[in-house]
Amino acid sequence: MQQWYQCPSCGVTVAFGARFCGNCGASLNWPIQQTQPPPVNQQQIQQSRSYEQQRRGTIFGALGVVFAVLSLGFFPIIFGAVALAFGVIGIVRGSTVLGAVAIVLGVLFAFIGALWGAAVWSNLLA
Ligand SMILES: [Zn+2]
Repeated sequence: MQQWYQCPSCGVTVAFGARFCGNCGASLNWPIQQTQPPPVNQQQIQQSRSYEQQRRGTIFGALGVVFAVLSLGFFPIIFGAVALAFGVIGIVRGSTVLGAVAIVLGVLFAFIGALWGAAVWSNLLA
């Protein structure tokens, strides 16, 4: 079965497998097997998948950082724990740096928030 393709240079129809365009003489580099996608495409699909996964990891890591900051002001133990959880999810999903930041800040800010909260409450009760 003869297949026809357009020359990428001049646009004239040329037979599949022809090495040169009969009209403009441009060299044509067809893929050897049309039925199998070239390995570059599969790599790109895998890359875009891991990008997508990393994007989700970044979202979780960012949420972790947000909750870590919130734990400074409100419910330090609860928000600190949430920040920790989001940080772990962020790392698992591929966002190592942001996830680690969320965990460190979550623990640190929860600790500071708890101390600050205790100080405020002891002042109120005194
Ligand atoms: Zn041509």
